Amino acid sequence: MTIMQRRVEKKRPTAGEFTSGNQHDSPILQLKLYGPPMASNLKQVWVPGPLIVGAGPSGLATAACLKDRGVPSLILEKETCIAPSWKLRTYERLRLHLPRQYCELPFMAFPPDLPTYPTKQQFISYLDAYVEHFDIKPLFGVEVGNAEYDPSIGFWRVQTNDLEFICRWLVVATGENTEAVWPNIRGISKFRGRALHTSSYVKGDDHRGEKVLVVGCGNSGMEVALDLCYNDAKVSMVVRDKFHILPRELLGISTFGLSMFLLKWIPVEAADAFLLFCARLILGDTGKYGIKRPKVGPLELKSTTGKTPVLDIGTLAKIKSGQIKVVPDVMQFTDTGVEFVDGTHEDFDSIILATGYRSSVTSWLKEEKDEEFFSKKNGFPGTSFPNSWRGNNGLYATGFTRRGLLGAAMDAQKIAQDISTQWNSSGTVDLSCNSKIM
Ligand SMILES: Cc1cc2nc3c(=O)[nH]c(=O)nc-3n(C[C@H](O)[C@H](O)[C@H](O)COP(=O)(O)OP(=O)(O)OC[C@H]3O[C@@H](n4cnc5c(N)ncnc54)[C@H](O)[C@@H]3O)c2cc1C
Repeated sequence: MTIMQRRVEKKRPTAGEFTSGNQHDSPILQLKLYGPPMASNLKQVWVPGPLIVGAGPSGLATAACLKDRGVPSLILEKETCIAPSWKLRTYERLRLHLPRQYCELPFMAFPPDLPTYPTKQQFISYLDAYVEHFDIKPLFGVEVGNAEYDPSIGFWRVQTNDLEFICRWLVVATGENTEAVWPNIRGISKFRGRALHTSSYVKGDDHRGEKVLVVGCGNSGMEVALDLCYNDAKVSMVVRDKFHILPRELLGISTFGLSMFLLKWIPVEAADAFLLFCARLILGDTGKYGIKRPKVGPLELKSTTGKTPVLDIGTLAKIKSGQIKVVPDVMQFTDTGVEFVDGTHEDFDSIILATGYRSSVTSWLKEEKDEEFFSKKNGFPGTSFPNSWRGNNGLYATGFTRRGLLGAAMDAQKIAQDISTQWNSSGTVDLSCNSKIM
């Protein structure tokens, strides 16, 4: 039956119209669309609701918000579990960096007995409970390799190894931290010790007694250095750029919470001045220990560049006591260690690269040049918060606000509201395409 420029009633599909994707009961209504898939070996799958790429906290929150509004969605996840960045790529001693009230996903509070900064395991248990509560069933082991809007049918074509999903709404929830960044330092392959990225770092005990160089001093680098120190490693940490370090708590209140409060009432410059004054009182002059502050204050820097201040949980005290040595940038690796930019050499047993992550969206999402929502430069939406959640032609982004889980929760709710309005506004889905339902 040809459905060229035909409107199909958007009734909830009955059981017979669904096929189970893998062993899941996801709402996948399979159609054979006239007009071939982009590659002839691909089987086409029609998704009546939004398709979400990524089953991290952002994707899960979006699915839950959609479900709450009666909109079925489907999540594709390349790994074999939900939240793999937490389950598979984080170190044992990790706790949430921010107090728990800023890390809750929509519609579900943390259990009341959790500490202010839940452990990684507690956060994972919370996410598992979230998925169970909202009955979210992602398709696992399904990596999106290409996604393109097809203007001739008004739908997205989203391709994996062997499937082409056709959907009207595409939600990108693949995270700001998809790919580990390996710095391009000369000689890295020569180094005969262990060189690993923080995404593969598990625990300090694995490096007990070793001489370890941590390259990078963001929140992860600082925490890993501290963990190593607790496990009797001899730690050096490369501090290359200026950055802000703040105590995790000020006056008994979380620095994050206090900052949010201040920003409601006073200009960012005044809030920064207050934070830096308190930080100086509590932490002293960090410049004396090799940690120089940028001219722009921490909150202004965060809002203009996305650079997050480091929230100190004890690393600075170890730097002050000399247990962690601050060293200059690395010029090149040698077979036994590194040569620093000041010309000195030092041997190390292990080198841990706390050099961050990057978004990989633009490696698979293809957008027309004049409609580009995701920037090719950094894989983030070109528009900034609070307008970074909606792109063109039914494209959405959740979790790209540089505001952690709080930002993701806000995105998820806005996206669900927007899509549900469209879902409910007409009783029909417009399939104005040169297609056939078989
Ligand atoms: C060490 C660390 C600690 C953090 N602590 C906090 C904190 O305390 N509070 C806070 O608010 N934020 C914190 N964050 C920041 C942020 O909240 C987390 O990174 C969070 O996991 C982001 O969730 P997400 O769903 O956006 O991305 P992710 O958790 O990275 O999930 C993205 C998912 O997409 C999948 N995916 C990627 N590409 C594809 C593809 N092509 N096809 C299919 N699937 C794909 C990935 O496998 C992954 O499961 C922390 C980040 C890190 C790295």
